[in-house]
Amino acid sequence: MSKRIVAGNWKMNLTAEEAVNLFKEIEERLSFSEVDVKVFVPSIYLQSLTGLSEKITIGAQNFYPVSKGAFTGEISPIQLRSIGINTVLIGHSERRDLFGENDDFIQSKVKSALENGMDIILCCGESLETRDAGNEVKFVTGQLSSALSIVESASMKNITIAYEPIWAIGTGKTSSSQQAEDMHLAIRNWLDSKYGPTVAGSTSILYGGSCNAANAKELFACPNVDGGLIGGASLDAETFLTIISSF
Ligand code: PEP
Repeated sequence: MSKRIVAGNWKMNLTAEEAVNLFKEIEERLSFSEVDVKVFVPSIYLQSLTGLSEKITIGAQNFYPVSKGAFTGEISPIQLRSIGINTVLIGHSERRDLFGENDDFIQSKVKSALENGMDIILCCGESLETRDAGNEVKFVTGQLSSALSIVESASMKNITIAYEPIWAIGTGKTSSSQQAEDMHLAIRNWLDSKYGPTVAGSTSILYGGSCNAANAKELFACPNVDGGLIGGASLDAETFLTIISSF
C-alpha cells in the first residue's frame, strides 16, 4: 500500500522568525497520524529546524548533485546528510523553468540523491499548452522515464512522485479531481509497466497545484491520489493542518 503524505513547499518565503513560528505552530498542533508530514524549507533554515520534531520530516528544496568542490553557492547531498537532512525535492517546475534544470540534470540529481541514501519527492507536470494539445500523459511519463531511467526497483522505496500541472501551480487554478485522478492512474500504470505491480502499488503519488483547505478532501478522495505537495497553502498553519486532516 502506498503511504499517505502531505508535504509543504515553503519556496523562498518567510523570515527566520516567521519560519520558526510557523514550524512550531504546526508541530504543536499536529497529532501523530497515518499521514507522513514533510516540509521543504529554505536552505538557510534547514539546520535550525531539523531535529525539532519527531512528527515532521524536514527536507531540502534543492542541492547540487556533486559530493564537493568548486561550486560556489551550492550545497551537496553529503553536506545535507551531515546536518541530518535526508529528504530532497527534485524536478520542481520552478527549478526546471526558472533555473534551467533539464531532464539530464534532473536524472543526475536523482542518481546523486539515491547514492547518498536520500528520500526523494520527484515532481513532474505539463504546461497548459501541452495539455491543450492532448499530450499531457506522454509528456509526464516522458519526464518520469528520463528521471528514473537509471533507477532500479529496489530504490523506488525512496521515491515519491508529485504530479504538479504547471498551469495549476500558484495560479489558484486547481486541476479537477477527475483530471488529477486520470493522470495519477496513468502514472501508476506507467510504474506498473516499468517496475511491476508491487512497486506501482506502493509508490505514493501526490497532487500539487493550488491544493488548499477547500479542495484537498475531494482531491485526496481519488483512489490514486496519495496526498499533496502544497505550496502557498502550507504557509499558514491552520490551512496546512486542515489539508493534512483531509483524508
Ligand atoms: C508547488 O509549488 O509545489 C505548489 C504546489 O504550489 P501551490 O500549492 O502554491 O500551487
